[in-house]
Amino acid sequence: TTMTNKTDTTGDVRLSGISKTYGSFTAVHPLDLTVPQGSFFALLGASGCGKTTTLRMIAGLEEPSSGTVFLGDQEVTRLPPYKRPVNTVFQSYALFPHLDIFENVAFGLRRRGIKSVKKQVGEMLDLVQLGEQARKKPHQLSGGQQQRVAVARALINHPKVLLLDEPLGALDLKLRRQMQLELKRIQTEVGITFVHVTHDQEEAMTMADTVAVMNAGRVEQLGSPTDLYENPNTTFVANFLGTSNLIEAEVDSKSGDEIVLKAGGGKLVLPEARCSAPTQTGGKVLVGVRPEKISLTHADDAGEIPVGRNRITGKIANSSFIGVSTQYVVDSPVCPEFEVYAQNIDRDARLVPGAEVVLHWSPAHTFGLDAAQD
Ligand code: ATP
Repeated sequence: TTMTNKTDTTGDVRLSGISKTYGSFTAVHPLDLTVPQGSFFALLGASGCGKTTTLRMIAGLEEPSSGTVFLGDQEVTRLPPYKRPVNTVFQSYALFPHLDIFENVAFGLRRRGIKSVKKQVGEMLDLVQLGEQARKKPHQLSGGQQQRVAVARALINHPKVLLLDEPLGALDLKLRRQMQLELKRIQTEVGITFVHVTHDQEEAMTMADTVAVMNAGRVEQLGSPTDLYENPNTTFVANFLGTSNLIEAEVDSKSGDEIVLKAGGGKLVLPEARCSAPTQTGGKVLVGVRPEKISLTHADDAGEIPVGRNRITGKIANSSFIGVSTQYVVDSPVCPEFEVYAQNIDRDARLVPGAEVVLHWSPAHTFGLDAAQD
């Protein structure tokens, strides 16, 4: 953040009013989005939400029905893919089976007529940690290694932006997790903009600085992984990223920068800044809290719960011990199947199915959603 090194915009991706329709079906509604140079950006959403179509419009593989695409300062809306300063990595690695790893990576350089490729290819293979495998053929590598070759091949011509379309989709879970960290490391090292499409929320959260959660052709919310998790703005985002307990409540009053809500017979408190619903008295709000933010106290000990915590009562429906924590499902009048993940520190032996309990948590870990939205 020195003066000399301020805004580098060469790898910015800017979408302005970009949309895609197929006949009467709108796959992507007009979308404005800026991805800053050097960031790792994820487009996250369920199958059919329009994330791949968005990526393909950036790549030039799909022509937008409206709007403009900028890469850096250059408008590229009508440019064919090969004239854009981008490259794409697909789920199918599409390596050349008859060429060895070195030649696969060298391909883009050779096509441009560059003769001395050894140094550049060597550096790229080191970057993806395949220096030792240069003379192997693709079929002699594991899936994760093949995907790294695909990444090296896509980076060799120094694109300003790398687009990744479900690149880890074909890998098993363990390898996928390794590759998530690996891609993140590579991105940090090369410092170019990555735009990554995935339906896997954990993957997006692990890798990306910024995530756009897409639903039915629209971006529902844009933010850092923590932001989206801690402060979802819609029920879709709250449920798509992790598990949320949602309680139907009604605005009772305001006190300072907090909102007091009625739920069942009791009251819940919520910071106004964490409420995306209208907060006029009598308004309906869905009060949310993540399962790991909740403490569970046997009803007999309810007097020991500190004041100022949100609390609801319930009865344990079932519990499952999963080592580091125990997951409880609690039936409560205000929220059936309330989920609680409790760390197994000082676990209370009385917390068994049928036990009457009080669930309590800090107002600071509470968010409010608009109950009227679809
Ligand atoms: P997936 O993860 O399954 O690829 P996605 O979120 O990437 O899903 P898109 O591939 O962007 O979704 O597709 C968005 C919607 O547009 C889908 O409903 C899809 O059926 C539709 N669609 C995509 N391509 C075409 C096409 N060529 N003609 C008609 N409809 C299309």
